[in-house]
Amino acid sequence: MAKKISGKRVIQILGGIAVLGIIGAFFIQVPEIDPRDLLPSRAVYETVPPEFPDFSRPAVLVLNKANGFVHKDAIPAADEMLRKIAEQQGWDIFITDNAASHNTRDLSRFILVVWNNTSGDILTEVQRADFKAWIENGGGWLGMHNAGGDFYYEWDWYVESLIGTQFIGHTQREQFRDADVLVADSELKITDHIPPVWRIAREEWYAFKNSTRAKGHEILLVADESSYMEESEGRTGLSFKNGVFYMPFHMEGEHPLVWRHQLQKGRAFYSSIGHQAATYSLPEYQELITKAMQWVRSDMNSK
Ligand SMILES: [Zn+2]
Repeated sequence: MAKKISGKRVIQILGGIAVLGIIGAFFIQVPEIDPRDLLPSRAVYETVPPEFPDFSRPAVLVLNKANGFVHKDAIPAADEMLRKIAEQQGWDIFITDNAASHNTRDLSRFILVVWNNTSGDILTEVQRADFKAWIENGGGWLGMHNAGGDFYYEWDWYVESLIGTQFIGHTQREQFRDADVLVADSELKITDHIPPVWRIAREEWYAFKNSTRAKGHEILLVADESSYMEESEGRTGLSFKNGVFYMPFHMEGEHPLVWRHQLQKGRAFYSSIGHQAATYSLPEYQELITKAMQWVRSDMNSK
């Protein structure tokens, strides 16, 4: 004789299946987004700077500090590229995760600072003030990919003045897509080695609240959205539906990917390209970053 299963037991079993289903759906459908990135970062701050050697040549400081998402493939790939560029240019290079390196005394040792896929809020109030003063008095900053890729920053100057706009999302489902990148101004020397339509394979494409052109920034590379997204895609705002996070990745009007600007006596260059380690091996990208580093440190007098 079959044993009778109580109604209560059936409800427990169905409930268990439903819970497993929801958990399973979450992990299966949303592998590309760490939901913690949607919240203010879990910040860890340093207050004791690293020991610096005495540099005999012009020196570059690279900061790899990640308080949010960690680009574990891109960060070492970018470091390798930066080491190679520094070697070619005859510069010393110092690579660190220690954000206490950003103090008035130590910043003065460097001709430029690179934020290599930094994430979350990484500087204390004092470090922010020192870094801002260093830039405004003639320092140079180069930000790569996640340096401008968080949904939220506690530091308005960083978003509004240094980068110039707020990240709103990146391609998802599929996260990595082939895209056509367009040279924005064929007259500029900094991009004259790049074909007018530059196809980059399998990258993650960022979108921002607006183009920084209205702020007087010089837009260098823009995305041809039609080359990598459907007409209706990426237009919804940040939302969470049926266990799936959605973020926008379409921009109205111009969709800049790389830009630069003067900031008082200083210079800033930001590239949103560079989730994938392979991108840092592209000769066109290496040359762009080389020229950007030269421009940021005021080596390039011409455009
Ligand atoms: Zn990324």
